[in-house]
Amino acid sequence: LVSRKKHPDNTVVSVKNEPIGDGIQRIIAGPCSVESEEQVFTVAEALKERGVNLLRGGAYKPRSSPYDFQGLGLEGLKILKKAGERFDMAVISEIVTPGDVETALDYLDVIQIGARNMQNFELLKEVGSTNKPVLLKRGLSATISEFMQAAEYVMSRGNTNLMLCERGIRTYETATRNTLDISAIPILKQETHLPVLADVTHSTGRRDLLLPAAKAALAIGADAVMAEVHPDPAVALSDSAQQMDIEQFNHFIDTLRDAQLLKDGV
Ligand code: PEP
Ligand code: MN
Repeated sequence: LVSRKKHPDNTVVSVKNEPIGDGIQRIIAGPCSVESEEQVFTVAEALKERGVNLLRGGAYKPRSSPYDFQGLGLEGLKILKKAGERFDMAVISEIVTPGDVETALDYLDVIQIGARNMQNFELLKEVGSTNKPVLLKRGLSATISEFMQAAEYVMSRGNTNLMLCERGIRTYETATRNTLDISAIPILKQETHLPVLADVTHSTGRRDLLLPAAKAALAIGADAVMAEVHPDPAVALSDSAQQMDIEQFNHFIDTLRDAQLLKDGV
């Protein structure tokens, strides 16, 4: 079902009136974790000012260490929903448990399936049984073929509102947190009809590489770029090394627009 062979036309996923995959490249931004209403509102307002309508923020955080901040859970979803209403933005957040999918339908415009859950088949079946847009991330060590099969799990349950996100894979290289598999983007565009996104934050893990990675991803045909933005990354409860502050984000998006890689208002 994900293969382009049987479905030659591009799928466009409409996220709260914002089409993704329609040929206009977009930005999805927001904090790594939802920490407070004030934090989310500050970022949302700044994004909106630059014409960005897609707000991300983690409420259930799949952290490598059980002693790290695990997210605000339902409280985080409530803050996101409020921000979406206040600033007229679509909100995106990761769900990690099949049992939380139904609740999430009331709060989110897009359900994200994180890299660590790409092969959580029960979770894939659960989101596949809804018609909510799903942003599926590539697993840390997943091949493109395994990634497409995970996508097939979602689509085979009936949900066609699916987007794929390259977020870096584990290689022997230690200079970056993961290795952004840039060629996966055109391969997935060729092999599937689904929108293909690039997460420049989790792939590089380095603030200084966000802009060059985003330029590359947009130039090679990504339908959207995801990046993390926090009002004060130094005190962020997760991913403080790679989130941009608002000034850095403004520079990021202005540079992409000046390079003609993004149109106004997206
Ligand atoms: C995230 O986007 O918040 C996240 C945890 O990403 P990934 O699943 O790609 O690590
Ligand atoms: Mn993060």
